[in-house]
Amino acid sequence: MHVTAKEVELTGEGVRIVWQDGRVYVYPYRHLRLQCACAGCVEEMTGRSILNVASVPNDVIVVDWIPVGRYALQFLWSDGHQTGIYPFEMLLRIAQQDDAVVRED
Ligand SMILES: [Zn+2]
Repeated sequence: MHVTAKEVELTGEGVRIVWQDGRVYVYPYRHLRLQCACAGCVEEMTGRSILNVASVPNDVIVVDWIPVGRYALQFLWSDGHQTGIYPFEMLLRIAQQDDAVVRED
């Protein structure tokens, strides 16, 4: 099943996403930032993380976002990073695997 994000809201806690199937998840900002899978954060050939975690401020937030087609979101971070694309599939996987993500519905 292909689930898409219906609403995206930047809250004091993190990125709040209402999914088409009714699920609501809040993704803490820094946590989401550390999951970035762009070429600057993950080595493309090996999939190895090359992001320097210590370089990401503890209070990093999302300042803006745009939809990428119908399958992903791209975030603009307060640390200037903006090349990461987060496919819906990946966001849903993070929500399921990760205790840091809060389910609201
Ligand atoms: Zn990145």
